[in-house]
Amino acid sequence: MDTYESLLAAVTAKNGKTNEVIDPATGELIGLAPVHGVDELSDLIDKAAAAQPAWAALSDDERRQYMHRAADAIEASAEALAELLSREQGKPLNGPNARFEVGGCVGWLRTAADTPLPVETLVDDGTTYAELHYRPIGVVGAITPWNWPMMIAIWQIAPSIRMGNTVVIKPAETTSLSGLALAAVMNQALPEGVLNTISGPGSVIGDALVRNAKIGKVMFTGSTPTGKKIIEASAGNVTRLTLELGGNDAGIVLPDVDPTAIAEGLFWGAFINTGQTCAALKRLYVHDSVYDAVVDALADFARNVPMGNGLEDQNALGPLQNKKQFEIVDRLVESAKASGARVVLGGNPERDAKGYFYPTTLIADIDPQNDLVIEEQFGPALPIIRYTDLDEAVAQANSLEVGLGASVWSTDIKRAREVASRIQAGTVWINAHGMVDPRVPFGGAKQSGYGMEFGVEGLKAVSQPQVVSG
Ligand code: NAD
Repeated sequence: MDTYESLLAAVTAKNGKTNEVIDPATGELIGLAPVHGVDELSDLIDKAAAAQPAWAALSDDERRQYMHRAADAIEASAEALAELLSREQGKPLNGPNARFEVGGCVGWLRTAADTPLPVETLVDDGTTYAELHYRPIGVVGAITPWNWPMMIAIWQIAPSIRMGNTVVIKPAETTSLSGLALAAVMNQALPEGVLNTISGPGSVIGDALVRNAKIGKVMFTGSTPTGKKIIEASAGNVTRLTLELGGNDAGIVLPDVDPTAIAEGLFWGAFINTGQTCAALKRLYVHDSVYDAVVDALADFARNVPMGNGLEDQNALGPLQNKKQFEIVDRLVESAKASGARVVLGGNPERDAKGYFYPTTLIADIDPQNDLVIEEQFGPALPIIRYTDLDEAVAQANSLEVGLGASVWSTDIKRAREVASRIQAGTVWINAHGMVDPRVPFGGAKQSGYGMEFGVEGLKAVSQPQVVSG
């Protein structure tokens, strides 16, 4: 069982090149993350490749037991992991935040361990016999972003190791310690060489990881521009890819809703993790007949959710994780204000403060083509667009190049499902947004990426299908 101090000491760089990791709530230094070089990466991939055959040779049951023991280790050090995550990422300990994320790691790991993926008999008609196996690919390269640095790492690691692959994972630069700490705790239970970490800049280490010929599959979660670079870098070795990229999720509120009843769901759909969530609600289209009531109910809920330092118990929203993201949100809200849109709440950050806090912001009566609507803000600023014609709202929801998630809000489930069928997104939630589940596949449409994670589909994605016939 680790304490915050022992965990930090285990992952802090002892020598060599380092990167300063800053607490986004205070601007203070948390620790020094290692910055590895491409030679170290190459050695590490060799080590992962050497360990892979023995890991694959274990029975499925043996690997599943190791995964449960790794989940036990996370549970034993959960408080230490949550504190490090809160300090480094900024998200509060409470609410759907740091403790929730660490708990999610346990849940996803156990579900990936327990999801059955039997050999499929494809044809057995007396003359032909064919069956489909899911074999290991080899070494999986995993690259994570900074918003959910532990949970997304588990999404990549858990199915990969279940299927007999070993893993080399590279966390994002500004949340390296969280990724390294999670792996260090899991490695208290896993055999040597199965789960390996490397830390350094994406353009150098991430790129070299994708290009290495011993990497059979890359699991990437991050921005669409980086995803496109990874597609190019993967071409040389025809490396398999799962790409979970950026989104700009639309929510459509139909005229029959009860505004007060949906306010909480809308709020957390948009503002979970202070809006820094790939499948958060980022554009809300509300029918004119309920528009003012929905805006008022949302504002009434939002103004009572405390934002502040994540280590203080009462807070449910934290700062933005880094300065670059603060500046993106600030620029987009300023563009909305300049266009004459109505600021219902927030929109007035303290730009000289030490932490990267951007207040909870609701912007109403905004032009559907404003930058705050059509660009991914990835922060706590929700544009609320008024519509009168549902077809027009659906067309606007579908008008962007991305399509990760979406939602429809209505008391008439049949009607909501019909609207959902017209939306171009990997997932459409009804009367909720962003509710991912380890049993249910998740992936993007259009430039939000390809490939699916979670559930049986997620296991298949990190396997080499092989037909055995005859
Ligand atoms: P990013 O693309 O800048 O970085 C993601 C990771 O890629 C980091 O580890 C980075 O070091 C690495 N990287 C950067 N350049 C690379 C390269 N050339 N080759 C290989 N790796 C490279 O994204 P970010 O700023 O960390 O995350 C925010 C973005 O991620 C948002 O757009 C968000 O929507 C998206 N996101 C998507 C999902 C999803 O599931 N679809 C989940 C979380 C975040």
